[in-house]
Amino acid sequence: MTPLWSNLQSLLYLACAVTFVVGLHLMNSPRTARRGNAISATGMSAAVVIAFVAVTLDGFTLTAAPLVLVIAVAVGSAIGLIAGRRVAMTAMPQLVSSFNMVGGGAAALIGVDEALRANGTTAISVGATTGLGILIGSLTVAGSFVAAGKLQGFLSGNPVRLPGHRALELSAIGFAIVGAIWLALHTGDVIPLVIVVAASLAAGVLIVLPIGGADMPVVISLLNACTGTAVAMTGLALGNPIMIIAGALVGAAGAILSVLMGKAMNRSIIAIVVGGFGGATDQPAGKGTSSAAVRQTTADDVAIQLAYAHRVVVVPGYGLAAARAQHELADLGALLTSRGVDVSYAIHPVAGRMPGQMNVLLAEANVPYSELKDMDESNPIFAQTDVALVVGANDVTNPAARRAGNPVSGMPILDVDKATSVIVLKRSMGRGYAGIDNELYAEPRTSMLFGDAKESLQQLLSAIKVLVA
Ligand code: NDP
Repeated sequence: MTPLWSNLQSLLYLACAVTFVVGLHLMNSPRTARRGNAISATGMSAAVVIAFVAVTLDGFTLTAAPLVLVIAVAVGSAIGLIAGRRVAMTAMPQLVSSFNMVGGGAAALIGVDEALRANGTTAISVGATTGLGILIGSLTVAGSFVAAGKLQGFLSGNPVRLPGHRALELSAIGFAIVGAIWLALHTGDVIPLVIVVAASLAAGVLIVLPIGGADMPVVISLLNACTGTAVAMTGLALGNPIMIIAGALVGAAGAILSVLMGKAMNRSIIAIVVGGFGGATDQPAGKGTSSAAVRQTTADDVAIQLAYAHRVVVVPGYGLAAARAQHELADLGALLTSRGVDVSYAIHPVAGRMPGQMNVLLAEANVPYSELKDMDESNPIFAQTDVALVVGANDVTNPAARRAGNPVSGMPILDVDKATSVIVLKRSMGRGYAGIDNELYAEPRTSMLFGDAKESLQQLLSAIKVLVA
């Protein structure tokens, strides 16, 4: 490769990296997020083309590396395109976990290749970053696989603890660190390579298995941060600027999100990693239904309450996404607003199954952004609220979080129980993601309107229109 081409390549990579930063910036607002995504995706595609040209110019024949690259890009793009088009909004977190798994795995494999190529003259800095890339990448692969399994339901979503779990977990982490240090000092040796890969995979499984209940959001964003860090480490080992920058951006964004989610959930990230939150329970956790006695209501009764209320606060949750009822909810909000009702939407930071899911859903249905209030803004107004309308939300409203000893303990919740009346729209007495009963449902101010959220909202819209005609 000529110095001219090498410099040009670095410059082009830098231009691609600028598109990532611009894209991230545009993702600050739902209005510009699509454009941000498109700009970053264009930059990433350009980086792949540059890598292809670099490999081709680097002395390979047309039958070797470039061909492998073409096949890899074709297969990867086809899978990405199909997954992006077909995956339902409700399955997005599993998809994100799978992408984390693929990203971490790619970084680890490049690191393994780099380690196997080492010839005894590798600088310790390169050995160290290679070892770290393999450690973090392998841990991410295994951890993301378990997280995706829990979210998809092919692994138990409840905390799973093996006999002597804590000792096994700490040993795996210890072996992984020792293996990485050994590999940094003797980069070509196979024994430390095997140790670091095996111990890191085991650590990934053991760290994520005992995490359940409401703590998965923090784990997913933490694994996302790990993917970026693994890619950046491998980029450092290879001296590849685009991998360093893209990895650092993903790592930093994931780390910031993890800290914010940890704060929102009142959880310490260290405690989650070494302890596995969500294990304690004062009631058997799991899927299933509660048998608590509750008061049922009808669409006509709820319509009267909503139509003559001064203030209504809507609490959307995962069930809204599952029912794809965002447009009906937006129509209901607009109808009430047109009658002079003060309508707002209280957004809990972990409502749904991915950060920001409720904001995205409501923005898609053109709910005015000014009506979306975060938890800190919403909680003080519940006491002056006539109706808290809970649409497919469960864990984020569970007063059990105010007590110790259950999977949601300590998680700040939306204080819907302070409203004059609480109406819950859901299909049954089914539990939320944390797998425990919601004590809100049995409270005297609460009424349940059972049914699919989309159908219930349609009934409410019709009933209010008849009422005010
Ligand atoms: P939950 O998962 O606690 O509850 C959702 C409720 O929606 C269920 O109880 C279900 O009850 C109801 N529901 C499902 N489908 C429908 C439907 N078609 N119509 C009406 N209701 C329906 O949701 P929340 O949003 O309150 O809480 C999110 C939970 O997910 C938290 O525990 C959070 O930690 C966790 N989590 C969040 C992530 C994130 O990043 N936001 C990622 C991973 C996990 P029923 O079956 O009776 O209808």
